[in-house]
Amino acid sequence: MRIPLLAGNWKMYKTVTEAVEFVRGLKEALAGIQGVEVAVCPPFTALYAVARELQGTGMALGAQNMYQAEEGAYTGEVSPVMLKEIGCRYVILGHSERRQYFGESDEMINAKVKLALKHGLTPIVCVGEHLKDREAGNTEKVVGEQVRRSLAGLSAAELAGLVVAYEPVWAIGTGRTASPEDAQQVNAFIRSLLAEMGGQEAARQVRIQYGGSVKPDNAAELLGQPDIDGALVGGASLKVESFAAIVRAA
Ligand code: 13P
Repeated sequence: MRIPLLAGNWKMYKTVTEAVEFVRGLKEALAGIQGVEVAVCPPFTALYAVARELQGTGMALGAQNMYQAEEGAYTGEVSPVMLKEIGCRYVILGHSERRQYFGESDEMINAKVKLALKHGLTPIVCVGEHLKDREAGNTEKVVGEQVRRSLAGLSAAELAGLVVAYEPVWAIGTGRTASPEDAQQVNAFIRSLLAEMGGQEAARQVRIQYGGSVKPDNAAELLGQPDIDGALVGGASLKVESFAAIVRAA
């Protein structure tokens, strides 16, 4: 069966010193935990120090973004080769904040997904509708287009191995969570779409997370849904106690 992936997206929070201190605390809080996979996604500056701290723990490291080239004159960007070298297993791609503030399109995200896979990184591909889309009854249309375009051209095996994160934009950082039923419905829809794209077996294997105001007190109900295979956690992943409580709820 699918092992839930609980990933902390730290966004632009934590210095190296704070990151190392956090991971030491998390290791203690989660010692011996089984049946789930835990990942932390620090800012680029803290990745290397966190990688060293995570060695031998079974917890995984992820980056929050990457550029769609192996190297080159792209001032300010970081390549998948660099992320792989320092021990990243995951890379978050197409987060709504990247789409919204940095103009990332599905086509760009698709290029990033393909290059991440080529270099042995597992993409966590984010999709999700805005409030106006949901209110207009367009959630499946919007999310469906994002899934089809950002995952276009992938093989069944590639689809099976990646992670999709359903993050309704209106639930991110707002304290407003999708109800477990609504989240389950969209996650099931995404899985059915992936079955069309890559076949039943790929759809059965792919992990589909939920993200958006996941907290210790709503995690168990969300993670108990049949098509929710973990969470991508923002704010509540910044404190050891709350992130560890979410992991324990899975
Ligand atoms: P919050 O958990 O802070 O709502 O953020 C969710 C998110 O964007 C994770 O990628």
